[in-house]
Amino acid sequence: MTSLKKVKQALRLLPALRLVWQAAPNWTLVYIIVLVIQGILPLVLLYLTKLIIDTIVESVNIVDKISNFQQLITLIALTGLVTLATVICNSGAELVNTAQSRRVADYMSSILHAKSIEVDLEYYENPQYFDTLQRAQNEATYRPNRILNNLVWVAQNLISLVTMVGLLLSLHWGIAGVLFVAAIPTVLVRVKFSKILYTWHRKKTAMERQAEYLSWLLIGDIFAKEIRLFNLGTLFSQRFDRLRFQLYKENLAISSKRAVATLIAQALATILMLSAYTFIIYQAYQGIIRIGDLVLYYQALQRGQDSLKSVLGSFSALYEDNLFIANLYEFLELEPKIIQPAHPQPFPQMQDGIRFTNVSFQYSTTTRQALKDINLTIKPGEVVALVGENGSGKTTLIKLLCRLYDPTNGSITIDGIDLRDLDVVDLRRQFSVIFQDYVKYNFTAQENIWLGNTDLPPTQDSIAAAAQRSGAYDVIKRLPQGYDTMLGKWFDQGEELSIGQWQKVALARAFLRNSQVIVLDEPTSAMDPKAEAEVFDGFRKLIKGQTAILITHRLATVKMADQIFVMDKGTIVETGTHEELMLRGGTYAILFETQAQHYR
Ligand code: ADP
Repeated sequence: MTSLKKVKQALRLLPALRLVWQAAPNWTLVYIIVLVIQGILPLVLLYLTKLIIDTIVESVNIVDKISNFQQLITLIALTGLVTLATVICNSGAELVNTAQSRRVADYMSSILHAKSIEVDLEYYENPQYFDTLQRAQNEATYRPNRILNNLVWVAQNLISLVTMVGLLLSLHWGIAGVLFVAAIPTVLVRVKFSKILYTWHRKKTAMERQAEYLSWLLIGDIFAKEIRLFNLGTLFSQRFDRLRFQLYKENLAISSKRAVATLIAQALATILMLSAYTFIIYQAYQGIIRIGDLVLYYQALQRGQDSLKSVLGSFSALYEDNLFIANLYEFLELEPKIIQPAHPQPFPQMQDGIRFTNVSFQYSTTTRQALKDINLTIKPGEVVALVGENGSGKTTLIKLLCRLYDPTNGSITIDGIDLRDLDVVDLRRQFSVIFQDYVKYNFTAQENIWLGNTDLPPTQDSIAAAAQRSGAYDVIKRLPQGYDTMLGKWFDQGEELSIGQWQKVALARAFLRNSQVIVLDEPTSAMDPKAEAEVFDGFRKLIKGQTAILITHRLATVKMADQIFVMDKGTIVETGTHEELMLRGGTYAILFETQAQHYR
């Protein structure tokens, strides 16, 4: 590894501290102060102990016993005060720590959320993204704070360590040396196993996610019905157990090895330390040092060992933090590819319309092209339909049009302006799209519609008008609290709707949006024929001059379209009006006849 890279890695700790500071500056400051005081108080106590012992030893040869006794009392009182301060400090630290770490955890969640919104849709269709997200989530809530703690502990223990080493040096340099040598094996063990665990965790993220997925299947509400009917509970539960057991076994194997290595390292340390203790006791035995000194050195050695252990422990922990925090940055540093152009143009009031020129597209995770050489024009105010088999590329075409992805080849323009030159937010503002897998928000009915256009105040009038247009009005009217009824089953008093009813609510959301283009992907697939007819019979009036793109399998509903694009395997195979395509007798005509026969 180059030294530059090493320096860069070492600096990984700093951004984490910045995050902690941004999350809760006041609490963090108080926390640091408390930790520093906590570090100093034991030293004061130790010094007081030495003074007490010295005073007692002196009293043997002294005449003025009373003043000696008074001095002793003062020292004991001071010891009491310092002990009290320690207790207060400890409970204060607990409170401050709880408050501070909660603030940091919440802040980190909001940072993860912000990043999740920022990244492209593409990431959500890619398993590696979820691995990265999972690892980041594992680290985000506690790791930055741990770094802060470890740094403060290093400082705290360094103060104590330097004092103790100073004391021991005054006795014999060898004692101080033993202290350090004894600590080395433990540190080496820890560093080695940090690396092993880090690599293991990275390798196992996918497996952990599989287990989590199974757990989600077992407890998630949307799966409950099917899991019972197909009796899949035990199967999934066993699979979950197998995965977790495998992870447990592997982790245990590493942990056992680490335990043995640590044991050996500590046994070595103990032997070395024991020889140092023997040396000090021998010195006292020989009368070279006094009893007070014996206690002082003895304690200094003990505390020195503890402090050194803590310092080195914190350093090893920092090393580990430095490795693992990379998981968080990896996620935070994901670069969106769909970026705002340097000089974005506003979305025009369409005159010429939408044009696809030789557009091809391939998902990065596949080897096939989902769209091949698409050419089409849609004029403002036109109603067009995309028809074709499943997987023929209809939804992909819409995703490109809303710039959820950029074409691999070719270009899409609005009035001659490339989508990549338009303001991204403005562009998406001008489309109201309801995909087949639209969201059923577990909010009130009113909010479910209002979310279509949050620029509007959430007043009843506009929402009711949108609900009227989509047919949701009749559904909502019958709900116990009307527009204020909570929808879905997640929250108290939620009312579950049928799929067709949900579809009407989603459609109302699209109608509320006031966009230039409305895109509906199978918008009425779950509605009854009457409701569907209501939507499509008056469709042009319903959309009030908007340009409309419909994706549907029900060819009866696309008869009224100005243009119909028939797609097959990523290409457009036929274009025309219903009448033109029927006359042509191609794919569309055959499909239409098959469906019509069904109804007759
Ligand atoms: P349609 O809407 O006509 O049913 P799609 O546009 O959803 O078809 O899919 C077109 C092709 O692209 C299909 O072969 C499908 O498997 C593939 N595809 C769709 N979404 C993704 C994705 N996120 N990642 C990879 N391939 C995809």
